[in-house]
Amino acid sequence: MVNAPLNEMPLMKEDDGIVLFYPHVPESAIEEVAKVLRSRWIGQGPKVEQFEDEFERKFAKGGKAISVGSGTDALHLAYILAGIKEGDEVIAPVFTCTATNIPFLYMGVKVVFADIDAHTLNIDVNHVRRLITPKTKAIVCVHYGGLPCDMDELHEIANSYNIPVIEDAAHALGAKYKGRYIGEISPFTMYSFQAIKSLTTGDGGMLVIQDKNLIEKAKRIRWFGIDRSAKQMGVWENDITEIGYKYQMTDISAAIGLASLKEIDNTLQHRKILLSEYCRGLKGISGIRFIGDGYTDREHAAWLCTVIVERRLDFQRKLRENKIESNQVHYRNDRYTVFGGRSDQFPNMDAIEDKYLVLPLHTKMSIDDVRFICSVAKSGW
Ligand SMILES: *Cc1c(COP(=O)(O)O)cnc(C)c1O
Repeated sequence: MVNAPLNEMPLMKEDDGIVLFYPHVPESAIEEVAKVLRSRWIGQGPKVEQFEDEFERKFAKGGKAISVGSGTDALHLAYILAGIKEGDEVIAPVFTCTATNIPFLYMGVKVVFADIDAHTLNIDVNHVRRLITPKTKAIVCVHYGGLPCDMDELHEIANSYNIPVIEDAAHALGAKYKGRYIGEISPFTMYSFQAIKSLTTGDGGMLVIQDKNLIEKAKRIRWFGIDRSAKQMGVWENDITEIGYKYQMTDISAAIGLASLKEIDNTLQHRKILLSEYCRGLKGISGIRFIGDGYTDREHAAWLCTVIVERRLDFQRKLRENKIESNQVHYRNDRYTVFGGRSDQFPNMDAIEDKYLVLPLHTKMSIDDVRFICSVAKSGW
């Protein structure tokens, strides 16, 4: 099996070794979902509102949280609320989940990709400075792996053009920048509760907005453009003046979210302990570099453990022989035809393209699992 190509090795099963991801679902979520299923509201109802309130209290003081069906929904909604229109330009990172940029394709918006910072894999603010023009209508940033971007610099650039920063915080639930939670800083912050994110509702998402004047509009657009509460009162005048879609969350998902929110501090703490053990354990091993350490002004949310590694395929094979799963997870978006195809404008992305790798990190893992993975790395590949 030593030299078998990776794609010919069997997929990992959970009892077979250390898998890359594992959803975190509290036991209590099962009973909470059962209660919802026995109630009158299973779609968007009181649990959704309660989840928004409790989410705000925890992660988005001063903002308004709007629950939606996915992180992708939250981004699409944010882009509409930010007033981005067909023909506009936005700057977004080239290295991210396709979900960050796909909504722009529906909107006819031109995505101008920015390179990554070689040390963090976050958006390179110096490249953003060079790319910005009067046609730019927003800057989108992604806190890769859970490490916050250079928010002061991004805000300074955005403010000088009077445009918003939109944060894709799908990796960054619980991250802090200069003492404040991500979610309290920019006009729009989006979270994902997809199956493998730190907090999951199966699928789901949250958009946090700061402008109170946009709350009602956000709720209407979440539901076709209909003022749902007026309609429920039976006095709705029956006109739709804005194009909405169906972005809502259900009470079934919100019940899982509420149960998960109750233990989110422990979940995040568990992940942080594992990540710092990786950071410690991988230090000094030649040919491998841990991404995301060395900051004192921001707090990593510990969603991904990413390394830059020489001879990645050999390393992956070595891990796999030791029943450790690994993956690249996200790919540079300019490799996809729908985004216009590959560009040679991203030297930092080029430099790591064949070297970055994500290692297992989830709440079913123990510190000993991380120590084992580090010892496998230490033994060479
Ligand atoms: C997961 C993820 C999304 C998409 O969220 P969904 O809930 O799956 O729609 C967007 N951006 C990033 C960076 C992600 O990791």
